Amino acid sequence: MNDKITEHGAESCCITDAKFHSCEIKGEFSENNMSGCRFERCNLSGSALAESDMTGAVLDKVNLTGAEFTGCDLSGVNISDCKLEGAEIDGISIKELIEFYKNNHKENKAMKKNVRKAIIAGNWKMNKTRPEAKALLEELKPMVADVNDVEIVACVPFTNLETALNVTAGTNIKIGAENCHFEKSGAFTGEISADMLAEMGVEYVVLGHSERRQYFAETDETVNKRTKAALAAGLKPIVCVGELLWERECNITEEVIARQIKLDFYDISADDLKKCVIAYEPVWAIGTGKTATADQAEEVCAFIRATLAKLYGEEVAESITIQYGGSMNAGNAAELVSKTNVDGGLIGGASLKAADFTTIIMAAHNG
Ligand code: PEP
Repeated sequence: MNDKITEHGAESCCITDAKFHSCEIKGEFSENNMSGCRFERCNLSGSALAESDMTGAVLDKVNLTGAEFTGCDLSGVNISDCKLEGAEIDGISIKELIEFYKNNHKENKAMKKNVRKAIIAGNWKMNKTRPEAKALLEELKPMVADVNDVEIVACVPFTNLETALNVTAGTNIKIGAENCHFEKSGAFTGEISADMLAEMGVEYVVLGHSERRQYFAETDETVNKRTKAALAAGLKPIVCVGELLWERECNITEEVIARQIKLDFYDISADDLKKCVIAYEPVWAIGTGKTATADQAEEVCAFIRATLAKLYGEEVAESITIQYGGSMNAGNAAELVSKTNVDGGLIGGASLKAADFTTIIMAAHNG
């Protein structure tokens, strides 16, 4: 329909499921059955609809300025992209209502972000001998000594764990390992179990890092097993997820991430999930100098939270720390950690310099 229905109006008509496109609809409409009608790009300004059944109607790009709906059944009505100047529901301005909702929602999210403690974790990878590890941590200690609102973690090679634990004993720097095996003990030459780490006093362990997945054939299944083993030993797993460049280019980032979240946390209870940290690390940004923009990081971190909400409920999802990782550095950290769903970072290269790592920690501290 592409019409001008002005001044006439309609009474007691059955116009169910009709489609009105680019129509100008004025006048009085009462006691009509207009359920399922679709109004697209119509001008309803100044019209009056009374006692009508409009259930399930769709109003898309409609000018509703000054339109009146009285005693109508509007359940299930979908209004999108419409002009709502002066529109009111029971005397309350719709625009003001929307504004109020948006602000509260934003504030609410921001408040929840404040409830989660940001975690800035360094992932040293295969770097630093023991004397070098000691020197780096000795330099870092006084620089971050006053920071108590950010959890500071250094995830170091196995050979540095004892040194790191000794140097940081009694400080606000926590120590993590870079992996652990899923078996408790046995014939697994070259592997380290979660119990071995826990017994040393290690608190965190990075699991499922893309370099482990890429170069050491780790899969979501073994990441899941490692996560369970780490949790059973009392460690806090930092579980890494992230898409490859071509997966992003093929527009399947969300599918990839949802799959990783479902598999990596398969059969893990809500209580155990709360002990985990998730690091969103787009593989194309790790060690490449290419950082995801703050908006890209926020988008995927928010998606991770929404996925967790579907699996575990909103309350659990809101309590989980989700970090961003991938070429985070002293220059871009502040913008990244300012995002609502980015609760800190997992930092590779920049964690090897005390000054740079401190700047990133301060960004989370001031943010
Ligand atoms: C990492 O190793 O987890 C990482 C994010 O590395 P980089 O910061 O060097 O990209």
